[in-house]
Formats: sequence, structure tokens, C-alpha cells
Amino acid sequence: AEKVLQFSKGMRKADDKDHYANKRLRLAGDLLAQLFAVAFAAFVKDFQYQVSRSFSRMKKVPNLNSLVRADLITQRFQHALATGNWVGNKTGVSQLLDRTNYLSTISHLRRVISPLSRSQSHFEARDLHGTQWGRMCPNESPEGPNCGLVKNLAISAITSVERDPIPVLRAMADEGVEFLDYRDNSLLKNGIADKEGAKVFVNGVFVGFCKDPIALAAALRERKRKGSLPFDISVSYVVTDSFSEVYAFTDGGRIIRPLFVLDRDGKLKLTQQEREELMTGRMPWSELVRKGVVEYLSAEEEENSMIALSLDQAQANPGKYTHCELDSIALLGVVASLIPYSNHNQSPRNSYQTAMAKQAIGVSTINFQKRLDTRSHVLHYPQLPLVTTKTEELVGFNKRPTGQNFVVALLSYEGYNIEDAVILNKASVERGLARSSTFRLYETEERKYPGGQEDEIGIPDETVRGYHGASQYTKLDPTDGIVFPDSDVEGGEVIIGKTSPSRFVEEFRELTGGEVIKHDSSVLLKHGESGVVDRVYVTLNLDGRKLVRVVVRDYRVPELGDKFASRHGQKGVVGLLVPQEDMPYTASGIVPDLIMNPHAIPSRMTVGHLMEMLGGKVASLRGSRADGTPFEGETLEQLESQLKALGFLPSGEEVMYDGRTGKMLRAKVYIGLAYYQRLHHMVADKMHARARGLVQILTHQPTEGRAREGGLRFGEMERDVLVAHGASSLLLDRLLESSDKTDVTICENDGAMAYFDYKKNRWICPICGEKVKPVTVTMPYAFKLLVQEMVSMGIDIKIEPGDPV
Ligand SMILES: [Zn+2]
Repeated sequence: AEKVLQFSKGMRKADDKDHYANKRLRLAGDLLAQLFAVAFAAFVKDFQYQVSRSFSRMKKVPNLNSLVRADLITQRFQHALATGNWVGNKTGVSQLLDRTNYLSTISHLRRVISPLSRSQSHFEARDLHGTQWGRMCPNESPEGPNCGLVKNLAISAITSVERDPIPVLRAMADEGVEFLDYRDNSLLKNGIADKEGAKVFVNGVFVGFCKDPIALAAALRERKRKGSLPFDISVSYVVTDSFSEVYAFTDGGRIIRPLFVLDRDGKLKLTQQEREELMTGRMPWSELVRKGVVEYLSAEEEENSMIALSLDQAQANPGKYTHCELDSIALLGVVASLIPYSNHNQSPRNSYQTAMAKQAIGVSTINFQKRLDTRSHVLHYPQLPLVTTKTEELVGFNKRPTGQNFVVALLSYEGYNIEDAVILNKASVERGLARSSTFRLYETEERKYPGGQEDEIGIPDETVRGYHGASQYTKLDPTDGIVFPDSDVEGGEVIIGKTSPSRFVEEFRELTGGEVIKHDSSVLLKHGESGVVDRVYVTLNLDGRKLVRVVVRDYRVPELGDKFASRHGQKGVVGLLVPQEDMPYTASGIVPDLIMNPHAIPSRMTVGHLMEMLGGKVASLRGSRADGTPFEGETLEQLESQLKALGFLPSGEEVMYDGRTGKMLRAKVYIGLAYYQRLHHMVADKMHARARGLVQILTHQPTEGRAREGGLRFGEMERDVLVAHGASSLLLDRLLESSDKTDVTICENDGAMAYFDYKKNRWICPICGEKVKPVTVTMPYAFKLLVQEMVSMGIDIKIEPGDPV
């Protein structure tokens, strides 16, 4: 209340709700505790109910053990974890861990999701905030509705753990804080307003007064640095003309980040000896924190500090700064920090790369040969990037890289690389460039149904309904009905044979005189897919039922339409595979692996891409990897001079010759090495066409979507084109003949739909009965459906047929 009054009088500024001092992260433990509290309350309530019910029935104290429903809490946990629906109507709390590659896993684990609704604008909440520096990555956020709401922790940021506030209160007492006594309200009675000094708050609770807020904060911080208070608590003060307050926080979920502590002269507390011990691993990082050489600051405490970006800056102004950044790269997140020379790129390109890095194929997990993910990819020959950043090792990317170093030329080639397409050297592809395998899991189990019916895994009997024909089951083991490992399988083929009881048992009993009809519920390989059976598992599920899992592996050689991207938001699909002899080559005989269109550069301003190519070229020639760490890697001048010393043009350009004619190309070509990622969007999973096929039962129109073998949509815009061209016959063909053409018989007297009475062998009109004048009209089935639906709502529809065409 006092704050509100002070605010209304203009003595206090409004709180900034986007300031990280006012934000807390909720981590797994916190959320599970919340879930447990609700589940336990439900458990207790149920137990009480069970006891009172059983007592009122038996009139004596029941056996309590038998009344405990032990599975209640377990069920709640399992349900919440399986669906992600948490108490308090929160959704998406538990998610399936992204295992596309190692980086996507790490990034997923560091993701922070705002509870704000994505459908509202919330401009301020989506904007970068000053206190986000070093806490949240400024680049790594999705495009679209979640932009700025889904964020990722910066590389050095950690969260505070909830601590007991008592040690802080004790320390405050030592430093002369006068505590409020809430038992007799003595201080409150005597009037707070007259009390001298600053108010002291611990975890937001007003606890007392102190004489000198700045001295108290300094004293508490000194204890924190000496290790007598936990390193992740925060102490801050606010001193203005109208009020002064000291805040201490020991709660969990504050984002804190490490900084070097500077002494009065602007020098590091870190000694050369400590530095060496740290580098050689003789001293752990936590020791530096314990010694007060490095300090973790939360956003509120940062408001009382002055942080130098570099040691040079600190030493230029001794006494001005209290802390120094560990490194300028600490402001970036895990993914963004791996982009070489990202400081030379236009910022959205770095954001695009942070999204694409999570789609790159690498080695998802070391045990991928034993895992049972629904879908996973493995790159056969992953390479370390030639141009690296120093966070690579910290993050572990060097152990699970997600790409290969390509020789890249910036050139246009026969128009097959326009609109961001890229051209690959066919020979490179045949040598194994960007080759990968895709794994897919198929599974089924023997389920039990009410009425004693159950599934049976095995080759179905040919009398069973929906039998696919004897030829479809030849790849199955006749003893268990499961495919043999290492067999080649094609889309639509049976890989696990299974027979299930019919879904409508009762109905069929009447028809078949008690005999139960079964149907074929075999697992087929998805349409359009193919591969080799990698592994077969036969086991039991949690209920003790038979469970069969089959992993199918598909070998993926890069082909036209597969997606590739560099690390600078430059993505493209393969437009052409060119035989090596037709590719352009340099004077020294180098043939590029990939030809990228030069038009992809000027408008996007991905200078980092060009620098990486230069760095890659230097690295490959000198035989050691180049450092492309943003803000501090090898400079352009350094790269140029090295290239010159290695006998190349410092600009990175080279004279090239056309492989088909042998003629020199009339311009010098920029050629170098860049790390390219193969993204998991592959044509083999997307390409789709059909001539004829399934239709929906309801509308008689072709099914939708590749998974259902659907037709290609002829939408409104396509229709407009034909209308505009006056191509009416083609329009009729697409929208009627090739879609849901139906003949409907109507009665000419009243325009109602007539029906055929097979007993009388004649048409009957629902309105004029046997006086019907039947006439057959052709119309889309969807229209017939519309008419019937409207009639069913009580709207009379009359169809008046015109002259027959
Ligand atoms: Zn009629």
C-alpha cells in the first residue's frame, strides 16, 4: 500500500515487469512439487472419503491399509508427464526431448517459455530487455507467434536455488539491522514512518531497518564473496530522495550470471597463479566463486554494479567499474555462440541459423543403434567445422558435430541455383558427402478387449476380413508373423502381421450366428517409404502383453530437393547434381562441392558467411582450424595476409575454368570452405503425387495429405485462374469429373431427392410419392450432402433442373 501511495505521489517509479529482477524461472523440481501438492491433497481427500464410507458401513475402525489408493499419486504424475497438462491449466509443461542432434537437445534443455499468451501482441514482453544481457540469448528465439516469448538461456547463465533465509537474517543482525517484532508490533505501533534509516526486505518481506543501506549491502556482499553466505543469494539497495531500501533474496529461479570481481584500481582479483591452476584443471571453477574472484549476480544486484565489457575498458577507467564480463561471447546462447563471425552478420540471419541448427543431421545420440525414437537421422561422416568458435568445446559440439566442410564457390550455373537452390558436385555426393540414414520405428501390441477378445500377432488367416493377399506376407517369419531383420521393405508391405477381433462384435454375432469375425490389423510400412529392417524387438509391455517393435532404416544419398544450409541462415535445396567433369575448376584443379548463388549475399548481408569461407580456406591450406569466435576471432586482415602468404589472392577470389568447355570464366570467382549442414527436410519424405486413389466417405472427395495418399489440392486460387482464362471445361474436369461427381435422381414436380424402392422396383418421391417424375442430374457429391444437411435442419431445398446439356 505504501508503494502505491508513493507511486501516486510520483515518489516511486512503476515497476518494470519485464525487468529480470521481477522474473523467476520455474524449474522441474518446482513444478513437480506443485504437482505433488495437488496430487497429495487429492490422495488425502480420497483416503478420508474411503475411511468414512467404510466406517459408516462396518461401524468399526476399518483396516486402513486396504483403503489407501496407492496408485492415485502415481497416476496423476504419469498423466501430467505424458500429456504436459499441469495443475493450474498449464499446457506443454513436459515435452518430448528434441533429439534431432546434440545441439537441439542442449538448446531444448535451456529453453525458457513465457506463460504469456502467444495470440496477444505483448510488444514489451517480446522485446529485448537490458537485463536480458548475459541471461537470455538475443538471437535464439523462434519466428512467428512465439517470437520473444520462447527464449534460451545465455551460455553462462544459471538459476538460483531456493535457500534458507536464516543465515542472511543472522548476518543482517550482525551488521546492526533493527528487526521488526511481529509478535508485539512494538515498532509498528510506535510508527514506522518516523523511523530513521532504510527499510530492509528479505524475499520481499519487510523485516526491519538499517542505518546505512549501502554499507549494509556492501557488508552482506563481502560475506557472500568470503563464502559465509551462499553464492547465489542476491543483495541490492535502492536509494532515492524519497526512500531507501535494501533487498535480499534467497529464493529460487532467479537467473544469475558469473562476472569477474574488480578491485578499486580496476584490476581483476584473479591472480596469474589461479588462472593457470584453472586452465590445467587443478582448481575447479567453484573455487573461484568461493574465493570471491568470480561473483554470480542477479538482475537486481546488477543495478548496483558497473560492468566493464573488457579488461581494457576497466583499466582505462580505474575505479569506475565494479565487475568485468568473463567474455563478450557470454551474452549469446548455446546455439548462437557457435556461429562463426556472427558479429558480422545481419542479426535476423543469426536467428535463422539458431532455428536451423536444430534441424541439422548429425549424431543424435551415441546409442542411436539401440534407441527406439519414432524417427531419427544419422549423418555418416560428420566433420568438425574448419572455422570454429571457442564455445564449441564448452558446449560439446566438437564431440557431436552436425555437418561437413564443403568447398563452396559463389557462382551462377545454368540457372539451376536461382532462388536459393544450390548445386552439388555429383562426384562429391558419390564419395559420401552429406550421406545419412533415417530410422523409423513401427510398433504394435497384443491388446485385450472387453468380452475376452484379444489381438494375435502372427500371419493372419486368409479368411480374415481385410486380408492383404498371400504375397504381402512373404517377408514375415512364418513362426511369429514379424519381418526378418535385414529384409528390404517397400511402402504398403506388411511388416508385423496381426489379427484383431472386429470392433462391433455384437452386431456381427447376429449376422454370423455367433461366430466372431476377425479383421487384419497388420502393421504396414508407411506409404512412400522404403528401407531395410534394422532391428526387431519382441517384448512385453507394462501390462504384460506382447509388444513388437521394428526399426526400419533408410539410406539417404543427397538428391535433388534435399535441403542444405550454411551456419549463416543461408538455406537452399539441391537444384542440380553436376558430374565432376562438368563443374568449374580452379587453376590448381580444385572443384567445388557446392555452388551457391552470389545473389544470396548482398540483400542478406551475411558477411560472416564470406568470412567463414575465407577462414575455411586458410585453415585447410595451413592445416589448422581457424578461430571465428564472434568479436575476437582471427580478423579479416589476418586471414587475408595468411592467404597471401599461402600463394592465393587475399580476396579469396580465384580464376576458374568451365568444366565443359575448358574456357576461363570471365570473372574471378569467390571460392572457399564453409561448414554446411544437411537439414532433415528431405524430398524423399515429402514428394507426393497421385492419379487416382482413396476418397473420403463423407464427401466422396479425394483424401487430403501425403500420409493418406491424398490428392493434390485444386484450391480457390487455382480455380480463379481457370475462371479468368475461361477454361470452363478444365474447371469442370478438376472440380467435378476428377473429384466427387455423382448422379442424383430428383422429382421434377417438387425438386426433392427421390429414392429407389427395390420392393416396388420404382422411384418414390418423399413428397408426391408414386406420382414422382424422376429425372437424373449430375452434381458434386458435396452439394448433394449440403442439400441433405439443410433438409435435415428443416430448410426446404428445391432442385429445379434446367434443360439437359
Ligand atoms: Zn415429387
